[in-house]
Amino acid sequence: MPACPTRRAPDPTTCIEAATYQDSPLPDSRYSPFDPDCRACPRLASYLDRSRSTVPDCHCRPVPPFGADRPGLLIVGLAPGLHGANRTGRPFTGDYAGVLLYETLHGYGYASGPVSTSLSDGLVLHDCRITNAVKCVPPENKPEGTEIRRCNGFLRAELADLPDHALILALGLVAHKAVCMALDVRLSAYPFAHGAEHVLPDGRILFDSYHCSRYNTQTRRLTPDMFRAVFDRIALRRK
Ligand code: SF4
Repeated sequence: MPACPTRRAPDPTTCIEAATYQDSPLPDSRYSPFDPDCRACPRLASYLDRSRSTVPDCHCRPVPPFGADRPGLLIVGLAPGLHGANRTGRPFTGDYAGVLLYETLHGYGYASGPVSTSLSDGLVLHDCRITNAVKCVPPENKPEGTEIRRCNGFLRAELADLPDHALILALGLVAHKAVCMALDVRLSAYPFAHGAEHVLPDGRILFDSYHCSRYNTQTRRLTPDMFRAVFDRIALRRK
């Protein structure tokens, strides 16, 4: 497992609860279609209730995936941001985390425009879908291991619905681990690394990138060139 940065504040997209579920027995997750009214995580449901009263015009519910129904590329992030996806109702929309992502998706033909601002902005994704490992905003962007496991049935169902040729891109260690959990593959066989390309037992390919968070982009842990290099590799595998 990559070490967390030692001279900076820990980044939740790479360090959070890394030890709590790595290679632990796989949960008895079931395939669950996304439930926009889910309140299965008491801590997160309570946080949503509190954020609803403080963020005006807030979505403040589980955030559904965005994009094509049966995409050739599924992008998996961590969780909604409080003032981003949690407010707007679309993953990576309304805060800094989506800036590099949508700009890059547009550059590679996956998005009709380079920015995502709201549900009514007319943006369309082509052959691409964006989801999160955890559908509800967690306090301080840090979902707990139990919440990641509980929400994994939704991700499991999304992965099961993908076409056989679909590619998967995990943004950050937590997303990578959630994908492995949902696919019942051992983390030790598929270690996270930025730029890694894992051929899964069913032949599908899982790509890894550092999360395109404000923290990672502003510290240049993830630069636009590094992110585009991942999409260059995806383009080579795209069918
Ligand atoms: S995080 Fe997932 S499982 Fe937990 S309440 Fe939200 S939608 Fe439900």
